[in-house]
Amino acid sequence: MTSTATPAPTSALAHPDAALRAAQPGEATIDRIAHVALSSVVLPLATPISDAKVLTGRQKPMTEVVFLVAEITTEGGHTGIGFSYSKRAGGPGQFAHASEIGPVLVGEDPSDIAKIWTKLTWAGASVGRSGLATQAIAAYDVALWDLKAKRAGLPLAKLLGSHRDSVRTYNTSGGFLHTPIEQVIENAGASLANGIGAIKLKVGQPDWRTDIARVTAVREALDPDVPLMVDANQQWDRATAMRMGRIFESFDLVWIEEPLDAYDAEGHANLARSLDTPIATGEMLTSVAEHMRLIEVGAADIVQPDAPRIGGITPFLKLAALAEHKQLEIAPHFAMEIHLHLAAAYPIEPWVEHFDWLAPLFDEHLETRDGRMYVSDRPGLGFTLSEQARAWTVATAEFGRRP
Ligand SMILES: [Mg+2]
Repeated sequence: MTSTATPAPTSALAHPDAALRAAQPGEATIDRIAHVALSSVVLPLATPISDAKVLTGRQKPMTEVVFLVAEITTEGGHTGIGFSYSKRAGGPGQFAHASEIGPVLVGEDPSDIAKIWTKLTWAGASVGRSGLATQAIAAYDVALWDLKAKRAGLPLAKLLGSHRDSVRTYNTSGGFLHTPIEQVIENAGASLANGIGAIKLKVGQPDWRTDIARVTAVREALDPDVPLMVDANQQWDRATAMRMGRIFESFDLVWIEEPLDAYDAEGHANLARSLDTPIATGEMLTSVAEHMRLIEVGAADIVQPDAPRIGGITPFLKLAALAEHKQLEIAPHFAMEIHLHLAAAYPIEPWVEHFDWLAPLFDEHLETRDGRMYVSDRPGLGFTLSEQARAWTVATAEFGRRP
C-alpha cells in the first residue's frame, strides 16, 4: 500500500452510506453474514378464495397466506430481506426447515450466493432438492440477492441486467370462481383503470357452459383490445382440456393456463401442439429439474416459474436461461415484488401477475400505468417490512449476533 489517502476497506464498509458510493478494491470480498432473523407472517385474506381446485373438492377455500421472511445482516451493516410463502399448509414446515439449516449462513460472504445456496441444500439434503425444503432456502436466497443489489445501490433488475424498465402486467385476483360475474366485470374495469393491462379469469366450473358464459360476458364487457387469459388450475382431464381449448380458440386468448395436472408434461405438450392458443403452465413446480422436464417436451408456450417455490432467484435464473434457449415466453407466478425484477431482466417480452394481496406487508408499493408495472429506482427488491407484517408475525428465530 503506497497511498495513505485510500480509506481502509473495513472503515468504509462500516459507513452507513456504504451502498451509495463506489466500492473500494477488495471490499466486495471481505464482508460476512453476522445475523439472520426468520419470521413466520400470517397474512389474512379479505375473502375466502376459490379456484377450480376448490370446486373439485381437492382443496378448501384459501383464507390466508403464510410468509417465511428472512432478514440477513452483515458485519458491514448491509441488510437484505427475502421471502417464501405457502398456501393452505406448509408454513410451519418451511419455517422449521429454514430454522434448522439457517445457522450455516453465519460467517459466509453474502456475495457468494451460489455457494451458499449449495451449502443450504446440502445442510438439508436428506429431505430433498425440491418442495418444502427448497422453498425454505428461497427466503434466504432472495434476501441475499436483495442485499447484493442494495449494496451495489441498484434495483435488483439492474443488477441482473435489465431489458426493460417496465413489464406487461395482468390481474388475477378479480376473476376467481367464487366471484359473481357482475363483480368480476366490475373488478376488471377497476384493474384497467389502475393501469393493469390484461385480465385473467378462472375457469374449471363443474358445468363447462358456465365457463363459456363467464368468459363471453367479460369479453363483451371490455374493450376488444384488452388481452384476456383463462386459468383452469389443473382441473381438466385431457379430453376436456382439448375440447375447451378448441372452444376457446375463437376468444383470441393470450393463453390457457394449467389446463391439466401440473406434472402431465405429455398432455400439456399435446395441447400446445394442437391448439393455436398458447399453453401456460409451471407455477406448481418446485425445482428447476421439474421445469426442465416440461421445457424438454414442449409442454408450455409460456413458462410460469415461481421463484419462492423453486428455491429462490438463483435457480430461477438457471431456469430462465433454459427457457430463453427454447425462445419461450415467461409469466412468473404470484410474488410480483420479486418477479417484476426477474421479468425485467428476461430477454423475451414477459408478463407479471398483479396481486395486491401482499401490499400490507410492505411500506412501499409498485406503480402500474398504461398496462405495465414499473421497476422502481429503490435499491434491491425495493421493499421494507411494514409494522403490519411485524404485527402478523406468529413465530421468530435468529442466528448469529447483530453487528
Ligand atoms: Mg395460475
